[in-house]
Amino acid sequence: MALLSLDEAYRRLLARAHRTDAERVSLTDAVGRVLTDPKVTAAVDVPPFANSAMDGFALRAAGTPGVLRVVGEVAAGARELPTVEAGTAVRIMTGAPLPPGADAVVPIEDATEREDRLTVPDGVPSAAHVRAAAHDTRAGDEICLPGELTPAGIGVLASIGIGAVEVRRRPIVAILSTGDELVGPGESLGPGQIHDANGVALAAAAIEAGATPLLLPRLPDEASPIESALVDAARQADLVVTSGGVSVGRHDYVRAVLERRGSLDFWRIAVQPGKPLAVGALGGATVIGLPGNPVSALVTFELFVRPFIRFMLDLDGGDGRLHVRATPTQRMTKDHARRAFLRVSVWHEDGGIHARPAGGQQSSQLRPLADGNALLVVPEGVDAAETTQTYEAIVFGPLLLTGR
Ligand code: AMP
Ligand code: MG
Repeated sequence: MALLSLDEAYRRLLARAHRTDAERVSLTDAVGRVLTDPKVTAAVDVPPFANSAMDGFALRAAGTPGVLRVVGEVAAGARELPTVEAGTAVRIMTGAPLPPGADAVVPIEDATEREDRLTVPDGVPSAAHVRAAAHDTRAGDEICLPGELTPAGIGVLASIGIGAVEVRRRPIVAILSTGDELVGPGESLGPGQIHDANGVALAAAAIEAGATPLLLPRLPDEASPIESALVDAARQADLVVTSGGVSVGRHDYVRAVLERRGSLDFWRIAVQPGKPLAVGALGGATVIGLPGNPVSALVTFELFVRPFIRFMLDLDGGDGRLHVRATPTQRMTKDHARRAFLRVSVWHEDGGIHARPAGGQQSSQLRPLADGNALLVVPEGVDAAETTQTYEAIVFGPLLLTGR
C-alpha cells in the first residue's frame, strides 16, 4: 500500500471531528477551558469608583504644598466618606474610595503627620495616585477571551462580576493498550513481559491536550476481548485511542474489529516514527489506533490526536505548540521517504535556535522524548537533517537560553 502523506492524513482525520457541547461551570473550574462565546460584555466599571493607589492622604491638589488639617480616615471598603474641604486632608488606604472634595493622594512617605497637622512639602499634581473609575474596564466594553482561559482571563471575568461561564465540555478520550506482553506499571515482570508505558503516557497527553482521559484495562491480543472493549469504550467516550495491534502482525486485531463492527480507514503514513495508523468509527465515536512503540504512539498522538482534541474544544486549528526554526548542531540521518520527527533539544543562543539529538532515535527509545523539548521536522525526500539548513521544530517543553 502506498504511503499517505501526513498532510492528507491530517486533513482526513480532522474532517471527522466535531465540537463538544456546552456546559456551565464555576470560574473555579474554568481554567484551561474554552468559552463557547469568547466575547463578554462588561456590566460594571472596573474599578467601580475612583480610589487610592497608595496608603497616604487624600487632599486637594490646589492646596499643596502646605499644611493641612487631618479630618478623618477611609479604609478599603468604607461606606461613609468624610468630605475633604479646602485646607483639610483625610488619611486613606490603598483601594479605599476617594472621598468627595479630594482630587489627589499624597503617599504616606511624602508627607509628615504630627497630631492632626499634615505637612506636605511639595506640590501634588491633580489626580496623583488616584485610580480613576473604569480605568481597567468600562461598563459596556466588549472583552474577548478566545482560546484556553488563563488565570488572568478568569480574574478579568471575576472582576466584572461573572461567577460562572459556559465552556466546551472536555472530550472524553478512552485509552486502551493492547498486547499480551504488557503488565501494569508497578507490577513485577514475568518472562517476556514489559511494562505498559503507553496507557499512562497517552492519558497524560490527553490531559495536556485538554481532554478527560478514561484509562481502560489493558487488553490481550485476542479478537473477542478487543472487540467488546472497543464497543464498550465507544459508548462511553467521544474518542477512543488504542495503542499497539495496528500493524500487520498476526495478532493485530484492532483493525479487524473496526472493519467488522464499524468502519475502518487504515493508513500507512509517511511519518517517522509512526507509519501505521488505523482510523475508524464505532457507534458515535471516532477510533484512532496508534502504533505500539512508545515513541511512535506519543508522536502520532501529538500529530493527530492532539489537534483532534483541540478541534473538539473549538481551539484554533493545529497543535497549539510553539513552532520555531532551528539549526542542527550535527547531521542526523532519517528515512528518505518519510517526514521525520526527530527527538531533539532546542535552545536559543547567539541569536539563533540550535537543535541537538536528545538521544537515540529508534521508536522504542522513549528516554530522548522525555529528555528533549522538541520534535525536529525533517521533510520527505532527504536522507538527513544537515547542519547547513534550518528546520521547523515543534517545541513541547521550555525553550532554554543555553544548551548545556
Ligand atoms: P505493536 O504495535 O503491538 O506491534 O507493538 C510494537 C512494539 O511496541 C512492540 O515492541 C511492543 O511490545 C511495544 N508496545 C506495544 N504496546 C506497548 C505499551 N503499551 N507500552 C510499551 N510498549 C508497548
Ligand atoms: Mg502488540
